[in-house]
Amino acid sequence: MPNVLVVGGGITGVAVAYDLALRGARVTLVERGSLGAGTSGRTHGLLHSGCRYIADVEVARECYTENVILRRIAPFLFEKNGGLFVAISDDDLGYRDFFLKQCDKAGIPVQELSREEALRLEPNLNPGLKAVIRVPDGTFDPLKVILSFAASAKLHSAVIKPFNEVTGFKVEGGRVVSVRILDKTVPREYEVKPDFVVNATGAWADKVARLAGLRVPVKPSPGVMVALDGRIGNMVFNRLNKPGDGDIIVHHRGTSVVGTTSWVVEDPDKVAPPREHIELMIRRGSELAPVVSRLRVKAVYVSSRPLVGEGAASSGREVSRSFAVIDHSREGVENFVSIIGGKFTTARLMAEKLGDFVSERLGIARESSTASTPLAPYWLFFEG
Ligand SMILES: Cc1cc2nc3c(=O)[nH]c(=O)nc-3n(C[C@H](O)[C@H](O)[C@H](O)COP(=O)(O)OP(=O)(O)OC[C@H]3O[C@@H](n4cnc5c(N)ncnc54)[C@H](O)[C@@H]3O)c2cc1C
Repeated sequence: MPNVLVVGGGITGVAVAYDLALRGARVTLVERGSLGAGTSGRTHGLLHSGCRYIADVEVARECYTENVILRRIAPFLFEKNGGLFVAISDDDLGYRDFFLKQCDKAGIPVQELSREEALRLEPNLNPGLKAVIRVPDGTFDPLKVILSFAASAKLHSAVIKPFNEVTGFKVEGGRVVSVRILDKTVPREYEVKPDFVVNATGAWADKVARLAGLRVPVKPSPGVMVALDGRIGNMVFNRLNKPGDGDIIVHHRGTSVVGTTSWVVEDPDKVAPPREHIELMIRRGSELAPVVSRLRVKAVYVSSRPLVGEGAASSGREVSRSFAVIDHSREGVENFVSIIGGKFTTARLMAEKLGDFVSERLGIARESSTASTPLAPYWLFFEG
């Protein structure tokens, strides 16, 4: 069987490693930090129902389908808490009919609640709310999900190497012939000679591709999240409107996390949370739940979405409107592919599509079976 090097140990990389290992490929994954050190370890931890993206029925349906698959293959990883979309202003109220119509088109089961029912479920919601819709959102601990995929890949003989950073590619005759890696645990540099390289480095995908003289049209787009000292609810709170700043509150253990903002940067290694974004999160969050303005800020964190920039469709295969597989054979390197975009919630699907692409190239006949194979428990990652 061919050997594949997966670069990047976020949710996309571990899902790709698992998909390809299940098909029988010999997989090694290298990650420059700990698993989840990039964007995947710093998300809201919201298992999307798709309702946030309801303006685009295809993307919303994609999220909901993956939501159902993930709950089926790993019920122990996802809280079945559900979510609420809440109208506070008249403008929010004006969005309700469109929202309900689109949910119906996407096949996402939702239910309107009365104000009293909603406040009984979540007493910290704004008592002046004008409408509430219950949706099948969920919550997860990002690290546990990443470890589960990584443990499942390991059970199928994948080798997972955190603290191993790719520092260079040697390209000869239109192929990557070797990859230079810095093992920070020793430390020492070594070389590997994979048959195929998958660049799953998210917001860093262009930086890594440049090491091979290639380009990836990724737009790193950071967002700020504010963790409050106190858990103010159980269900995910969403603002019933088009996605905007400070319109989500997700509860984890003893905290509630308010997010997020969005802007574009050149370098995902040089991002700090702007003070005004933190203030905006508190202001907007307290419109959803007034108690937000009275809680102490416990932590502020920021991470960058690997958004698909312009040119992705012309430089590769756009396999979905929300993510792209970039085929670098078009730039003259035939055994190198990049994957960008998507969401934590849709990483399994992204990995399946990427796995189809790599399998076609390497002549691997086995189809993806990640949608129907139960995931290993996360704690197995540390065993063996
Ligand atoms: C603020 C915010 C909130 C979000 N909330 C949610 C949410 O609640 N639910 C949801 O579904 N999605 C959410 N998302 C989207 C989701 O987090 C991302 O789409 C997803 O985590 C991207 O995963 P990834 O594996 O592609 O990238 P990453 O997780 O960034 O993984 C890439 C990895 O590559 C590594 N790397 C970089 N260079 C090298 C190198 N040279 N050698 C080796 N490794 C390298 C990095 O260290 C990194 O760990 C959110 C995004 C943001 C920005």
